[in-house]
Amino acid sequence: MASLPYLPFARPTLDEDTIAGVVEVLRSGWITTGPQVQKFEAALSAYLGGRPVRVLNSATAALEVALQLCGIGPGDEVITPSQTFFAAPNMIAKVGATPVFVDVELASRNLDLDAVEWAITPRTKAIMPTHFAGLPVAMDRLYEIAGRHRLRVIEDAALAIGSSWRGQRIGSFGDLTVFSFHPNKNMTTIEGGALVLSDEAEVREVEKLRFHGITRLPDGTRDVAFPGGKFNLPDVNARIGLSQLARLEEFNTRRREFVADYFQLLQTDPPCLLPHPGYTGDEAGHSWNMFAPLLPLEQMSIDRKQFRAALEARGIGTGISYEAAHLTTLFRRYGYCEGELPNTEQIARETVTLPLFPTMSGADVERVCTAVSEVLLEAKI
Ligand SMILES: *Cc1c(COP(=O)(O)O)cnc(C)c1O
Repeated sequence: MASLPYLPFARPTLDEDTIAGVVEVLRSGWITTGPQVQKFEAALSAYLGGRPVRVLNSATAALEVALQLCGIGPGDEVITPSQTFFAAPNMIAKVGATPVFVDVELASRNLDLDAVEWAITPRTKAIMPTHFAGLPVAMDRLYEIAGRHRLRVIEDAALAIGSSWRGQRIGSFGDLTVFSFHPNKNMTTIEGGALVLSDEAEVREVEKLRFHGITRLPDGTRDVAFPGGKFNLPDVNARIGLSQLARLEEFNTRRREFVADYFQLLQTDPPCLLPHPGYTGDEAGHSWNMFAPLLPLEQMSIDRKQFRAALEARGIGTGISYEAAHLTTLFRRYGYCEGELPNTEQIARETVTLPLFPTMSGADVERVCTAVSEVLLEAKI
């Protein structure tokens, strides 16, 4: 058999329009934050139903700025999943607040909202849910809880651009929403992120928080009232984002098609626990950043590392999303230990991310499914 090209688990789609656009920006003489950023923010705002949007150089920065915007700091608690990327709990800790980890549901891998209610204390200031792999958290219940307890919501929608809840785009409603444009996300600016806001007062605050805390005075000089960070997105990156946003729906349609193929073809022995297929009647609301089944480790003679090596040997890349944040060295210092969040810990042990990106082919999905089936059958006990 001729050896097939390596299939990574994620790959950005960068077209000639993007490359030409970047060259134009490079030749324009203005390469850092400027007109392209303004255009990109306007395009994102239009995509999100007109809400104000500000872009930053990462989603991690946007999460930090969102926490600062809410005035969250020492003594405050923020409820968040542990089954998420480290950025959210890290930024909660970085602003001096305490992350309160709550378990996720095994199927959706999103926050268990009953457990969120139980975790609320007088110190709770915000809920920071992740829309895992693009599947929205149950938004009406989330906002009903937040409203009843007067909590801010900072949605980590890093994986969910193009997702929707009952026909409304994630980011087009709600409180604060954060998107990521890292190369593994559904659209990219290389590095970059966005923060969706509710009003102009928040916009002015975020503009200071993302750029040194600077305000401009009437006499043309500048003042600083607090030590802001430096999180501005360069124009080169914003230009990439403009081309990507124009193709986002097309990219996400391709993702959904390959996911439908996965659901049809990934019938293994022993069986994997497949991801949540999206809400019935609202399947198109899932933007499928990742397809990540859980491995049947208890019926396998090899561990996950060996499973991934077997796929790698067949030219297929895989990922792990995510480790359990509460079991990192950092958050063990907050008193967390094994056994506290059983679903989170099971997912952290068993999850494996299979290849999914718009420029792969149906044959690639077949190849992955065949390889996974063979490896699992051989390892069956
Ligand atoms: C990628 C990701 C982030 C961080 O995004 P950056 O733009 O790399 O900072 C945060 N949260 C989740 C859930 C992510 O997947």
